[in-house]
Amino acid sequence: AKERGRNTYQFFSQEMNQRALARQQLETQLRRALQHDEFALHYQPLIDMRSNRLIGMEALLRWQHPERGMVGPDEFIPLAEETGLIIPIGEWVLRTACAQTKTWQDEGYRLRVGVNISARQFKQPDFVASVATILAETGLPPATLELELTETALVENIAETITTLNRLKGMGINLAIDDFGTGYSSLSYLKHFPIDRLKIDRTFISEISTNSDDAVIAETIIAMAHSLRKSVVAEGVEHQRQLDFLSLKECDEVQGFYLSKPLPPETFTHFLRQQSPD
Ligand code: C2E
Ligand code: CA
Ligand code: CA
Ligand code: CA
Repeated sequence: AKERGRNTYQFFSQEMNQRALARQQLETQLRRALQHDEFALHYQPLIDMRSNRLIGMEALLRWQHPERGMVGPDEFIPLAEETGLIIPIGEWVLRTACAQTKTWQDEGYRLRVGVNISARQFKQPDFVASVATILAETGLPPATLELELTETALVENIAETITTLNRLKGMGINLAIDDFGTGYSSLSYLKHFPIDRLKIDRTFISEISTNSDDAVIAETIIAMAHSLRKSVVAEGVEHQRQLDFLSLKECDEVQGFYLSKPLPPETFTHFLRQQSPD
């Protein structure tokens, strides 16, 4: 029994070592990725439901790994958050998204860009200053930038959050709550936050036409947002019947594979050119 116990221990410690090693490798590669320009942004179209027109896009981070190919954000954002690498990566994302959007605007397209901000990034003391610097450097009008924040990032220190949000709002930037409905469920904070838009998480959208609970949740979020004078985006729209439901409930904007997948900048440019002019 003693012998087996030792083997079990060795087995587990080996597995733990391997996992620690894999993490360490990922961290090293993430650091290198920034220096070697391995990150890219893809842009997913946002459609206005009333006019049926493209009104903007969400910037989504991709890692073009030299050996593993395209790596999605869910595979490295958590480690980037833990290690603090999300700070320089997040700045790169913001700068790149603002510069790209300005280029498209200069070609005559009126577009708003949504940029995901991690909790750790949002809580950096110089976050507001770095956003201001990037807007000044790229020349993007603040009213065409939207920061997407999660409920968890917002509710940790409410007083500080309100100060930060008010400073961003004071600069003319748009603010959205991402993955709405999945996080902290007290709605009372909503009236204290200067938020422009709620993005309904796609877990509620995926079954709005088959699950009556999800339909009620989505409908309620839309109604509540409107009574608080906030706009609503539905994420993860994959079928016409979801679009029909959302249109009936007067959801403001939609985003999802049914309309378009996230596109690399060159493809997004083609997508833009297909739109009828303003
Ligand atoms: P998110 O902000 O909720 O972004 C939407 C995610 O849903 C994206 O996944 C998008 O590709 C996916 N999606 C869009 N439409 C559909 C659909 O119709 N069906 C399905 N099944 N999925 C759809 P992605 O690009 O893998 O990003 C995952 C998450 O990673 C994002 O979720 C966001 O939380 C995070 N993320 C992405 N880019 C960044 C970034 O630049 N900074 C930070 N901090 N987080 C990021
Ligand atoms: Ca988002
Ligand atoms: Ca989301
Ligand atoms: Ca999400």
